[in-house]
Amino acid sequence: MISVSEALDQLFTLARPLGLETVPLLQAHGLVLARDVAATRNQPPFDGSAMDGYAVTHVAPGLRLHVIGEAAAGHRFDQTVKNGEAVRIFTGAPIPDGAKAVVIQEDVIRDGDWITIGDTPEANTHIRTAGGDFRVGDTVSAGRVIGPNDIALIASMNIGDVPVSRRPIVALISTGDELVMPGETPGPDQIIASNTMGLHALMRDLGAEPRLLPIARDNEASLRTAFDLARGADLIVTIGGASVGDHDVVANLAPQLGFEQSFYKVAMRPGKPLMAGRFGKAMMIGLPGNPVSAMVCGHVFVAPVVRAMLGLPATPAPRKTAPLAQDLPANGPREHYMRARFKGGDLVAFGSQDSSLLSILGEADALIVRPPKDGPRPAGDIVEYMPIR
Ligand code: AMP
Ligand code: MG
Repeated sequence: MISVSEALDQLFTLARPLGLETVPLLQAHGLVLARDVAATRNQPPFDGSAMDGYAVTHVAPGLRLHVIGEAAAGHRFDQTVKNGEAVRIFTGAPIPDGAKAVVIQEDVIRDGDWITIGDTPEANTHIRTAGGDFRVGDTVSAGRVIGPNDIALIASMNIGDVPVSRRPIVALISTGDELVMPGETPGPDQIIASNTMGLHALMRDLGAEPRLLPIARDNEASLRTAFDLARGADLIVTIGGASVGDHDVVANLAPQLGFEQSFYKVAMRPGKPLMAGRFGKAMMIGLPGNPVSAMVCGHVFVAPVVRAMLGLPATPAPRKTAPLAQDLPANGPREHYMRARFKGGDLVAFGSQDSSLLSILGEADALIVRPPKDGPRPAGDIVEYMPIR
């Protein structure tokens, strides 16, 4: 049995970085920018007005000026402004030749074709200079997850197609004779396959492309069919059948079907019977079937692997610290991920940590991480946790 951090190291070795692809800008949301992209224009492309007002050669209290025309966004005024003249101007319009400032409309009195500047005009010129936001060749640097703000910036640079790390295709395979899909009518001995659903959502959140495969039954032919259907995936995630019982198809049969195991069993709770390795061109992670184990292993192992495949640094799931609201007993020899919720700023661990109880996972805000053999912890102690909301 290896530790969680040894397991993560091995997983990162197994995770091959995926290639780069170019996608239309809107499809780049949530993906990692794979190469720097450079602006193909200056923004703004001209000196422009930041306010509604009058473009003038200079501003002085009491100055009386003749209004000779108008400039609006998208419609420049083509002549030169001279001393004694003003051009009515609106936000986003190019500053006419000759003008050196915009006097805002609140600072003038208008009278037909004439304006008079008030006693205390603002000193600000209200001109946005050409290239003040960015210039041709300015870059957005590779490595960032492209969020809404980046999309706006890249769009304004007039970049329509964006180089990104390809989304990993993640095949999700539930195993078990007892499972039916949500919405089906279960028989008396059956339950609903929930883990693949939760993991599907987790994969989507991360920017992967999950593929929900049909449930594999607890026999070789069915598992073989599932692996056949997983062809083309970058990552195969099986759920269940990972222990050493007679019906544990993944542990018993996957090696015969092409799985080359790198490790099996991790010193953690929940989630001990975890395995990983390669399967043909894909990486494979075999998760335990207990619903909470599967989801916790999804957060602890699958999510960091997917991030690495997406081109992000190979690092464990982020942790934070918070004080405990209550005493905790000493931990055993395995790293323990305890479902907990926040009460004020303090963490309260749930009384039952049974790995089959999704209702408690649903209520949890965080997983308190107890190192192996961690001693008893009094209320108020600062502990590490993984946010899971
Ligand atoms: P296993 O690892 O196959 O022995 O499964 C452990 C427990 O998890 C059993 O109670 C299974 O019924 C349950 N289980 C396995 N796979 C799933 C799944 N996809 N969704 C919900 N429960 C599951
Ligand atoms: Mg099973």
